[in-house]
Amino acid sequence: MTSLLSVQSLAVSYGPIEAVRGIDFDIKEGEIVAFLGANGAGKSSTLNALVGLVPVTSGTVAFEGQDITDWPPEMLAPAGMTLSPEGRRVFGTLSVAENLRMGAFSIKEKESVEAAWDRVYDLFPILHERRDQFAGTLSGGQQQMLAVGRALMCNPKLLLLDEPSLGLAPKIMGQVFDLIALLRDQGVTLAVVEQNVAMALEIADRGYVFSSGKIVASGRASELAHSDALKSAYLGGV
Ligand code: ATP
Repeated sequence: MTSLLSVQSLAVSYGPIEAVRGIDFDIKEGEIVAFLGANGAGKSSTLNALVGLVPVTSGTVAFEGQDITDWPPEMLAPAGMTLSPEGRRVFGTLSVAENLRMGAFSIKEKESVEAAWDRVYDLFPILHERRDQFAGTLSGGQQQMLAVGRALMCNPKLLLLDEPSLGLAPKIMGQVFDLIALLRDQGVTLAVVEQNVAMALEIADRGYVFSSGKIVASGRASELAHSDALKSAYLGGV
Protein backbone atom coordinates (compact mmCIF):
# COMPACT_ATOMS: atom_id res chain seq x y z
CA MET A 1 0.00 0.00 0.00
CA THR A 2 1.29 3.47 -0.85
CA SER A 3 1.54 6.18 1.78
CA LEU A 4 -1.11 8.83 1.40
CA LEU A 5 0.40 10.92 4.19
CA SER A 6 3.97 10.81 5.35
CA VAL A 7 5.13 12.84 8.34
CA GLN A 8 8.72 13.29 9.45
CA SER A 9 10.14 14.90 12.59
CA LEU A 10 6.98 16.95 13.09
CA ALA A 11 7.16 19.44 15.96
CA VAL A 12 4.53 21.91 17.17
CA SER A 13 5.10 24.51 19.88
CA TYR A 14 2.92 27.13 21.47
CA GLY A 15 5.48 29.63 22.70
CA PRO A 16 7.51 27.71 25.28
CA ILE A 17 5.13 24.71 25.30
CA GLU A 18 6.40 21.87 23.11
CA ALA A 19 3.14 20.07 22.34
CA VAL A 20 4.57 17.76 19.64
CA ARG A 21 8.25 16.87 19.83
CA GLY A 22 9.51 15.33 16.63
CA ILE A 23 7.19 12.55 15.51
CA ASP A 24 7.21 10.31 12.44
CA PHE A 25 4.23 8.44 11.06
CA ASP A 26 2.52 7.52 7.86
CA ILE A 27 -1.01 6.77 6.76
CA LYS A 28 -1.57 4.43 3.86
CA GLU A 29 -4.37 4.62 1.37
CA GLY A 30 -7.52 2.86 2.57
CA GLU A 31 -6.47 2.59 6.21
CA ILE A 32 -8.13 3.61 9.43
CA VAL A 33 -5.43 4.83 11.79
CA ALA A 34 -6.10 5.58 15.47
CA PHE A 35 -4.19 8.22 17.42
CA LEU A 36 -4.30 7.27 21.09
CA GLY A 37 -2.96 8.67 24.34
CA ALA A 38 -3.94 10.72 27.39
CA ASN A 39 -5.32 14.26 27.29
CA GLY A 40 -2.59 16.75 26.44
CA ALA A 41 -0.33 14.18 24.77
CA GLY A 42 -0.27 16.14 21.49
CA LYS A 43 -2.83 14.38 19.29
CA SER A 44 -5.03 17.40 18.50
CA SER A 45 -1.99 19.59 17.92
CA THR A 46 -0.76 17.03 15.40
CA LEU A 47 -4.05 16.98 13.47
CA ASN A 48 -4.35 20.76 13.58
CA ALA A 49 -0.79 21.13 12.27
CA LEU A 50 -1.48 18.70 9.42
CA VAL A 51 -4.32 20.86 8.11
CA GLY A 52 -2.56 24.18 8.73
CA LEU A 53 -4.67 25.34 11.67
CA VAL A 54 -1.58 25.67 13.87
CA PRO A 55 1.90 26.32 12.49
CA VAL A 56 4.41 23.51 12.09
CA THR A 57 7.51 24.41 14.12
CA SER A 58 9.73 21.94 12.28
CA GLY A 59 9.51 18.76 10.24
CA THR A 60 7.81 17.86 6.98
CA VAL A 61 4.39 16.68 5.89
CA ALA A 62 3.88 15.07 2.50
CA PHE A 63 0.47 14.27 1.06
CA GLU A 64 0.41 12.06 -2.03
CA GLY A 65 4.15 12.61 -2.33
CA GLN A 66 3.85 16.39 -2.37
CA ASP A 67 5.35 18.55 0.37
CA ILE A 68 2.38 20.31 1.98
CA THR A 69 4.07 21.51 5.17
CA ASP A 70 2.73 25.00 5.94
CA TRP A 71 -0.09 24.83 3.42
CA PRO A 72 -3.18 26.67 4.74
CA PRO A 73 -6.47 24.79 5.27
CA GLU A 74 -8.05 26.45 2.24
CA MET A 75 -5.45 24.79 0.02
CA LEU A 76 -5.52 21.42 1.75
CA ALA A 77 -9.26 20.86 1.51
CA PRO A 78 -9.31 21.05 -2.31
CA ALA A 79 -6.15 18.89 -2.35
CA GLY A 80 -8.09 16.18 -0.49
CA MET A 81 -7.42 16.42 3.26
CA THR A 82 -9.92 17.80 5.78
CA LEU A 83 -10.39 17.83 9.54
CA SER A 84 -13.54 17.44 11.59
CA PRO A 85 -12.34 19.31 14.70
CA GLU A 86 -12.80 18.44 18.34
CA GLY A 87 -15.89 19.95 19.93
CA ARG A 88 -17.97 19.87 16.72
CA ARG A 89 -17.77 23.64 16.18
CA VAL A 90 -20.81 23.94 13.97
CA PHE A 91 -22.19 27.40 13.27
CA GLY A 92 -25.26 27.43 15.49
CA THR A 93 -27.04 30.36 13.86
CA LEU A 94 -26.61 29.02 10.33
CA SER A 95 -28.85 26.33 8.90
CA VAL A 96 -27.69 22.75 8.48
CA ALA A 97 -27.46 23.25 4.71
CA GLU A 98 -25.44 26.46 5.12
CA ASN A 99 -23.04 24.72 7.49
CA LEU A 100 -22.50 22.02 4.90
CA ARG A 101 -22.09 24.60 2.15
CA MET A 102 -19.15 26.07 4.08
CA GLY A 103 -17.37 22.74 3.84
CA ALA A 104 -17.57 23.00 0.07
CA PHE A 105 -16.16 26.54 -0.03
CA SER A 106 -13.62 25.55 -2.65
CA ILE A 107 -16.27 24.17 -5.03
CA LYS A 108 -17.52 26.78 -7.45
CA GLU A 109 -19.89 24.83 -9.72
CA LYS A 110 -23.45 24.70 -8.45
CA GLU A 111 -23.93 21.12 -9.69
CA SER A 112 -20.88 19.90 -7.76
CA VAL A 113 -22.16 21.50 -4.55
CA GLU A 114 -25.57 19.87 -5.13
CA ALA A 115 -23.83 16.51 -5.63
CA ALA A 116 -21.83 16.99 -2.40
CA TRP A 117 -25.01 17.84 -0.48
CA ASP A 118 -26.69 14.73 -1.91
CA ARG A 119 -23.77 12.54 -0.90
CA VAL A 120 -23.80 13.84 2.69
CA TYR A 121 -27.61 13.67 2.92
CA ASP A 122 -27.46 10.06 1.73
CA LEU A 123 -25.12 9.27 4.62
CA PHE A 124 -27.12 11.30 7.14
CA PRO A 125 -30.83 11.39 6.22
CA ILE A 126 -31.57 13.26 9.45
CA LEU A 127 -29.47 16.19 8.21
CA HIS A 128 -31.59 16.28 5.07
CA GLU A 129 -34.75 16.32 7.16
CA ARG A 130 -33.37 19.19 9.22
CA ARG A 131 -31.53 21.01 6.44
CA ASP A 132 -33.35 24.33 6.98
CA GLN A 133 -33.08 24.23 10.76
CA PHE A 134 -30.47 26.23 12.73
CA ALA A 135 -27.55 23.91 13.52
CA GLY A 136 -27.68 25.08 17.15
CA THR A 137 -31.02 23.33 17.59
CA LEU A 138 -29.63 19.87 16.69
CA SER A 139 -28.82 17.25 19.34
CA GLY A 140 -25.17 16.57 20.19
CA GLY A 141 -25.10 13.48 17.99
CA GLN A 142 -26.64 15.33 15.07
CA GLN A 143 -24.14 18.19 15.47
CA GLN A 144 -21.36 15.62 15.32
CA MET A 145 -22.84 14.21 12.10
CA LEU A 146 -22.97 17.76 10.76
CA ALA A 147 -19.31 18.38 11.63
CA VAL A 148 -18.31 15.16 9.87
CA GLY A 149 -20.65 15.94 6.97
CA ARG A 150 -19.10 19.37 6.55
CA ALA A 151 -15.62 17.84 6.37
CA LEU A 152 -16.93 15.39 3.74
CA MET A 153 -18.40 18.09 1.50
CA CYS A 154 -15.20 18.51 -0.50
CA ASN A 155 -14.93 14.76 -0.99
CA PRO A 156 -11.64 14.23 0.87
CA LYS A 157 -9.27 11.33 0.30
CA LEU A 158 -8.06 11.66 3.87
CA LEU A 159 -10.44 12.62 6.65
CA LEU A 160 -9.05 13.51 10.07
CA LEU A 161 -11.51 13.09 12.94
CA ASP A 162 -10.71 14.63 16.32
CA GLU A 163 -12.65 12.86 19.07
CA PRO A 164 -15.80 12.19 17.07
CA SER A 165 -17.51 10.32 19.91
CA LEU A 166 -16.79 12.89 22.64
CA GLY A 167 -19.84 13.66 24.74
CA LEU A 168 -22.15 11.35 22.83
CA ALA A 169 -24.53 8.84 24.38
CA PRO A 170 -23.24 5.24 24.02
CA LYS A 171 -25.85 4.35 21.39
CA ILE A 172 -24.92 7.35 19.21
CA MET A 173 -21.25 6.58 19.77
CA GLY A 174 -21.80 3.21 18.10
CA GLN A 175 -23.29 5.00 15.09
CA VAL A 176 -20.19 7.19 14.80
CA PHE A 177 -17.96 4.12 14.69
CA ASP A 178 -20.28 2.47 12.14
CA LEU A 179 -19.95 5.63 10.05
CA ILE A 180 -16.16 5.49 10.18
CA ALA A 181 -16.23 1.92 8.88
CA LEU A 182 -18.73 2.89 6.19
CA LEU A 183 -16.59 5.81 5.00
CA ARG A 184 -13.62 3.51 4.68
CA ASP A 185 -15.73 1.14 2.59
CA GLN A 186 -16.49 4.12 0.35
CA GLY A 187 -12.77 4.67 -0.20
CA VAL A 188 -12.00 7.39 2.37
CA THR A 189 -8.79 7.00 4.37
CA LEU A 190 -9.23 8.00 8.02
CA ALA A 191 -7.12 9.11 10.97
CA VAL A 192 -9.08 9.23 14.21
CA VAL A 193 -8.18 10.72 17.59
CA GLU A 194 -10.29 8.84 20.09
CA GLN A 195 -10.52 8.50 23.86
CA ASN A 196 -12.62 5.38 23.50
CA VAL A 197 -9.58 3.17 23.06
CA ALA A 198 -11.40 -0.16 22.88
CA MET A 199 -13.75 0.96 20.12
CA ALA A 200 -11.01 2.80 18.26
CA LEU A 201 -8.79 -0.28 18.18
CA GLU A 202 -11.72 -2.40 17.09
CA ILE A 203 -12.24 -0.44 13.87
CA ALA A 204 -8.66 0.76 13.22
CA ASP A 205 -6.08 -1.11 11.17
CA ARG A 206 -3.14 0.49 12.94
CA GLY A 207 -2.54 2.87 15.80
CA TYR A 208 -0.01 5.33 17.18
CA VAL A 209 0.27 5.93 20.91
CA PHE A 210 1.18 9.48 21.98
CA SER A 211 2.75 10.46 25.26
CA SER A 212 4.21 13.88 26.15
CA GLY A 213 4.36 14.99 22.53
CA LYS A 214 6.08 11.83 21.28
CA ILE A 215 4.94 8.61 19.67
CA VAL A 216 5.84 5.89 22.16
CA ALA A 217 4.31 2.88 20.40
CA SER A 218 2.80 1.95 17.07
CA GLY A 219 1.59 -1.14 15.35
CA ARG A 220 -1.38 -3.15 14.23
CA ALA A 221 -4.49 -2.35 16.25
CA SER A 222 -4.89 -5.95 17.39
CA GLU A 223 -1.36 -5.97 18.80
CA LEU A 224 -1.53 -2.52 20.37
CA ALA A 225 -4.66 -3.46 22.27
CA HIS A 226 -2.55 -5.66 24.57
CA SER A 227 0.59 -3.54 24.67
CA ASP A 228 2.15 -2.26 27.88
CA ALA A 229 3.03 1.02 26.13
CA LEU A 230 -0.65 1.72 25.60
CA LYS A 231 -1.49 1.00 29.24
CA SER A 232 1.31 3.17 30.58
CA ALA A 233 0.47 6.03 28.17
CA TYR A 234 -2.87 6.32 29.92
CA LEU A 235 -1.81 5.47 33.43
CA GLY A 236 1.30 7.63 33.36
CA GLY A 237 -0.51 10.88 32.50
CA VAL A 238 0.68 12.89 29.48
P1 ATP B 1 -6.78 16.48 24.20
O1 ATP B 1 -7.41 15.17 24.02
O2 ATP B 1 -6.97 17.06 25.55
O3 ATP B 1 -7.06 17.46 23.10
P2 ATP B 1 -4.24 16.04 22.97
O4 ATP B 1 -3.47 14.78 23.06
O5 ATP B 1 -5.00 16.28 21.73
O6 ATP B 1 -5.20 16.17 24.18
P3 ATP B 1 -3.15 18.63 22.62
O7 ATP B 1 -4.50 19.26 22.71
O8 ATP B 1 -2.48 18.59 21.32
O9 ATP B 1 -3.19 17.19 23.22
O10 ATP B 1 -2.22 19.38 23.69
C1 ATP B 1 -0.80 19.16 23.79
C2 ATP B 1 -0.21 20.20 24.73
O11 ATP B 1 -0.29 21.49 24.12
C3 ATP B 1 -0.90 20.33 26.06
O12 ATP B 1 0.08 20.60 27.03
C4 ATP B 1 -1.82 21.51 25.87
O13 ATP B 1 -2.05 22.15 27.09
C5 ATP B 1 -0.99 22.39 24.94
N1 ATP B 1 -1.82 23.22 24.05
C6 ATP B 1 -2.76 22.78 23.17
N2 ATP B 1 -3.31 23.80 22.48
C7 ATP B 1 -2.69 24.92 22.94
C8 ATP B 1 -2.78 26.32 22.63
N3 ATP B 1 -3.62 26.75 21.70
N4 ATP B 1 -1.99 27.18 23.32
C9 ATP B 1 -1.12 26.73 24.26
N5 ATP B 1 -0.97 25.44 24.59
C10 ATP B 1 -1.74 24.54 23.95
